[in-house]
Amino acid sequence: MNVKAILTGWKNYISKSDVVESVAKERAAICAVCPHAKQGKIIAFIKDTLQEVQGAYCDACGCPLSAKIRSTEICPNSKW
Ligand code: SF4
Repeated sequence: MNVKAILTGWKNYISKSDVVESVAKERAAICAVCPHAKQGKIIAFIKDTLQEVQGAYCDACGCPLSAKIRSTEICPNSKW
Protein backbone atom coordinates (compact mmCIF):
# COMPACT_ATOMS: atom_id res chain seq x y z
CA MET A 1 0.00 0.00 0.00
CA ASN A 2 1.30 3.44 -0.97
CA VAL A 3 0.27 5.47 2.09
CA LYS A 4 0.82 8.83 0.39
CA ALA A 5 -1.39 7.84 -2.56
CA ILE A 6 -4.11 6.57 -0.22
CA LEU A 7 -3.98 9.82 1.78
CA THR A 8 -4.47 11.69 -1.49
CA GLY A 9 -7.38 9.37 -2.18
CA TRP A 10 -9.00 10.33 1.15
CA LYS A 11 -8.42 14.00 0.29
CA ASN A 12 -10.19 13.43 -3.04
CA TYR A 13 -12.92 11.49 -1.22
CA ILE A 14 -13.62 14.68 0.78
CA SER A 15 -13.23 17.21 -2.07
CA LYS A 16 -15.08 15.11 -4.69
CA SER A 17 -13.94 16.89 -7.85
CA ASP A 18 -15.96 15.94 -10.94
CA VAL A 19 -12.99 14.38 -12.73
CA VAL A 20 -12.01 12.28 -9.75
CA GLU A 21 -15.60 11.17 -9.20
CA SER A 22 -16.12 10.11 -12.81
CA VAL A 23 -12.94 8.01 -12.72
CA ALA A 24 -13.85 6.69 -9.26
CA LYS A 25 -17.29 5.65 -10.51
CA GLU A 26 -15.79 3.54 -13.30
CA ARG A 27 -13.34 1.94 -10.87
CA ALA A 28 -16.05 1.31 -8.27
CA ALA A 29 -18.11 -0.62 -10.84
CA ILE A 30 -15.12 -2.88 -11.50
CA CYS A 31 -14.29 -3.36 -7.81
CA ALA A 32 -17.96 -4.11 -7.01
CA VAL A 33 -17.83 -7.36 -8.97
CA CYS A 34 -14.28 -8.32 -7.98
CA PRO A 35 -13.80 -11.21 -5.51
CA HIS A 36 -11.02 -9.22 -3.79
CA ALA A 37 -13.50 -6.57 -2.57
CA LYS A 38 -14.45 -7.39 1.04
CA GLN A 39 -16.52 -5.59 3.61
CA GLY A 40 -14.35 -4.17 6.38
CA LYS A 41 -15.47 -3.99 10.00
CA ILE A 42 -13.41 -0.92 10.88
CA ILE A 43 -14.32 1.16 7.79
CA ALA A 44 -17.94 -0.04 7.68
CA PHE A 45 -19.15 3.26 9.15
CA ILE A 46 -17.60 5.40 6.39
CA LYS A 47 -20.33 6.50 4.01
CA ASP A 48 -19.67 6.77 0.29
CA THR A 49 -21.79 8.22 -2.51
CA LEU A 50 -20.47 5.29 -4.55
CA GLN A 51 -22.32 2.66 -2.55
CA GLU A 52 -20.75 -0.18 -4.53
CA VAL A 53 -17.58 0.28 -2.48
CA GLN A 54 -18.99 1.69 0.74
CA GLY A 55 -17.25 0.11 3.72
CA ALA A 56 -15.14 -2.13 1.49
CA TYR A 57 -11.43 -2.78 1.16
CA CYS A 58 -9.30 -4.67 -1.33
CA ASP A 59 -7.86 -7.85 0.17
CA ALA A 60 -5.16 -7.97 -2.53
CA CYS A 61 -3.49 -4.76 -1.30
CA GLY A 62 -5.29 -3.95 1.98
CA CYS A 63 -6.46 -0.52 0.81
CA PRO A 64 -9.86 0.98 1.69
CA LEU A 65 -11.67 1.21 -1.65
CA SER A 66 -13.28 4.63 -1.05
CA ALA A 67 -9.78 6.12 -0.97
CA LYS A 68 -8.09 3.75 -3.41
CA ILE A 69 -10.45 4.43 -6.31
CA ARG A 70 -9.85 8.17 -5.84
CA SER A 71 -6.07 7.89 -5.61
CA THR A 72 -3.14 7.60 -8.01
CA GLU A 73 -2.78 3.94 -6.97
CA ILE A 74 -3.38 1.18 -9.48
CA CYS A 75 -5.37 -2.00 -9.12
CA PRO A 76 -2.98 -4.76 -7.92
CA ASN A 77 -4.61 -7.13 -10.40
CA SER A 78 -4.48 -4.67 -13.34
CA LYS A 79 -8.28 -4.46 -13.61
CA TRP A 80 -8.08 -0.67 -13.80
S1 SF4 B 1 -8.54 -2.76 -6.61
FE1 SF4 B 1 -8.52 -4.39 -8.17
S2 SF4 B 1 -8.15 -6.30 -7.03
FE2 SF4 B 1 -8.80 -4.74 -5.55
S3 SF4 B 1 -11.03 -4.99 -5.37
FE3 SF4 B 1 -10.67 -3.42 -6.95
S4 SF4 B 1 -10.64 -4.52 -8.89
FE4 SF4 B 1 -10.37 -6.04 -7.25
